[in-house]
Amino acid sequence: MLKIQNLSATVDDGAKMILNQLSLSVPAGEVHAIMGPNGAGKSTLSYVLTGRDGYDVTDGSVTLNDEDLLEMDPEERAAAGVFLSFQYPLEIPGVPTLTFLRTAMNAQRKARGEAEISAPDFMKRARAVAKELKIAPEMLRRPLNVGFSGGEKKRMEIFQMMILEPTFIVMDETDSGLDVDALRVVADGVNALRAPDRGILIITHYQRLLDYIVPDAVHVLAGGTIKASGGADFAKTLETEGYDAYA
Ligand code: ADP
Ligand code: MG
Ligand code: MG
Repeated sequence: MLKIQNLSATVDDGAKMILNQLSLSVPAGEVHAIMGPNGAGKSTLSYVLTGRDGYDVTDGSVTLNDEDLLEMDPEERAAAGVFLSFQYPLEIPGVPTLTFLRTAMNAQRKARGEAEISAPDFMKRARAVAKELKIAPEMLRRPLNVGFSGGEKKRMEIFQMMILEPTFIVMDETDSGLDVDALRVVADGVNALRAPDRGILIITHYQRLLDYIVPDAVHVLAGGTIKASGGADFAKTLETEGYDAYA
């Protein structure tokens, strides 16, 4: 599904190389975790995957279902179904959550050559998902994330993913600073989003989220490249032994 080969990327107009010949494959239906020390390049990888400005790819390739992701602009990647979940979700003052989501959904549909979803159909779907996630309808009328608690933001992010049904999800340190209840929301959401035609990449500094989401593979990212990989238990080894061996 997602195939990264020998990916190198720089910031600062090429002054600083962050990713260095990184290779990684996430097959459809699998959840992979990336762990690693601070400054390893984990966030940079997520930005490169979504096409953020200021991150320049200097070598390698990234394909999603055999389509060249690097050729696409950020909007095209979103339309292709790439969803990035941030540590600090975007706040969008003035725009009700539902309006924002329907716009995003229709942009995705348009890019796929599909007809727009009608307002009643969208509302029906939104209500069903909100009920499933125990989100009060009142919250969906508020501006996206503005004044939401950490847990509410996470619940809303899972809501967005369930509505938009991304092909590939990247979560960057989405568990940082969350209490156990919010962690549970994220974990239950990710587990519910597991699907045979969907890949999920979870970037995390800590092992604790992986107590609730059992990944199919765990990779160590250090010095801008994947240094080692293992199964779910590898996360526990890393937590106890640290990353010194991969410096
Ligand atoms: P991680 O998420 O693993 O902690 P990052 O990808 O955020 O690591 O950062 C990797 C390295 O790249 C760090 O040394 C960071 O300071 C540097 N870096 C990231 N973005 C920029 C930027 N825009 N300009 C300069 N340096 C950057
Ligand atoms: Mg960091
Ligand atoms: Mg980071």
